[in-house]
Amino acid sequence: MNRRAGEQGFNTRAIHAGQEPDPATGAVIPPLHLTTTYKQDGVGGLRGGYEYSRSGNPTRTALQEALAALEQGSTGLAFASGLAAEDTLLRTVCRPGDQIVLGGDAYGGTFRLISTVLEPWGVSYRPVDLNDLDAVRDAVAPETTRVVWCETPTNPLLNVADIAVLAEIAHAAGTLLVVDNTFASPYLQQPLTLGADVVVHSTTKYLGGHSDVVGGALVVADAELGELLAYHQNAMGAVNGPFDAWLVLRGIKTLGVRMDRHGQNAARIAEWLLEHPAVGDVLYPGLPQHRNHEIAAKQMSGFGGMLSFRLRGGEEAALRVCGRAELFTLAESLGGVESLIEHPHRMTHASAAGSPLEVPADLVRLSVGIEDIDDLISDLDQALGSLTER
Ligand SMILES: *Cc1c(COP(=O)(O)O)cnc(C)c1O
Repeated sequence: MNRRAGEQGFNTRAIHAGQEPDPATGAVIPPLHLTTTYKQDGVGGLRGGYEYSRSGNPTRTALQEALAALEQGSTGLAFASGLAAEDTLLRTVCRPGDQIVLGGDAYGGTFRLISTVLEPWGVSYRPVDLNDLDAVRDAVAPETTRVVWCETPTNPLLNVADIAVLAEIAHAAGTLLVVDNTFASPYLQQPLTLGADVVVHSTTKYLGGHSDVVGGALVVADAELGELLAYHQNAMGAVNGPFDAWLVLRGIKTLGVRMDRHGQNAARIAEWLLEHPAVGDVLYPGLPQHRNHEIAAKQMSGFGGMLSFRLRGGEEAALRVCGRAELFTLAESLGGVESLIEHPHRMTHASAAGSPLEVPADLVRLSVGIEDIDDLISDLDQALGSLTER
């Protein structure tokens, strides 16, 4: 007997959930429904509920069902970008006077959305160190805190927060725990199963996986909240197009095998960097000496492909390594099959300069791809070697 959909393993769900062969033609891959509108069989006679593609499109539906299955949620919703998903979520659940408790090194764009777009509309925020549970308890105010925003592992410092404990704290105060699961991907971590209420993704990263599509997603446990968010997805309109949905769906099919290789390569590089004389701290949750290694080992099934390291030679050394790397492409973003290197202080996290979320200038972040490990290490070797040249 075949296992029922809900009991299937992760990779089976990634390949099949929401992706039944097309009933009309048998096409094995969900068709790309490039249409804005749908013929009605008499006024109001909708086929499958489709009337207009902002409200619903079958290719997007396939992606949304796959996302919900991977995160084990009731409802998945796809958006034009990760930030579009975040904006839709926050403007759905927050009202003027509400507060967001925000992990102290959240993604720079999340911080910018909250601090420059939402704050003028009366939504305040309070940055806290999510590893300091007393500080989190103090920051969460039952009357005003609507959301505890947790990113784990964080970008770019790779801190790991205990999702189950944060869920308890949030729920005791009647607030929502939101987890940005972009770095781990649902293959390594499923926050809803640990008590989180909402999972946020930039599908631009590991879910898409090939650096060719920008997108975002929300997945929720509670069906009622799912309905409210679906209403706002349509009312606010920040949906992704069908081709973008289709690309993310294609990426998702190989998520498991990609994440395994990303993690193997990143672990090898982390160990190699530890031995390098030009390198100070290596920030990778898979290292036993990482400050949150135990929490990561408890709630993740692997440690992912992202790592950061600090240069003993300061910002100048960090900039030089970024400039010298060749196989590691100097570029923002992450989570694609190709390896990337970047300087968060001046690039991805420049918008956090001067704020409590500012990142150190001697930090270099790697998105470790799935190339051959010897080639990756050889490139880092020459880039770091350049520091001792005159
Ligand atoms: C990239 C990213 C986002 C924002 O997603 P976009 O698709 O760029 O809008 C949010 N959170 C994290 C952790 C990210 O890396």
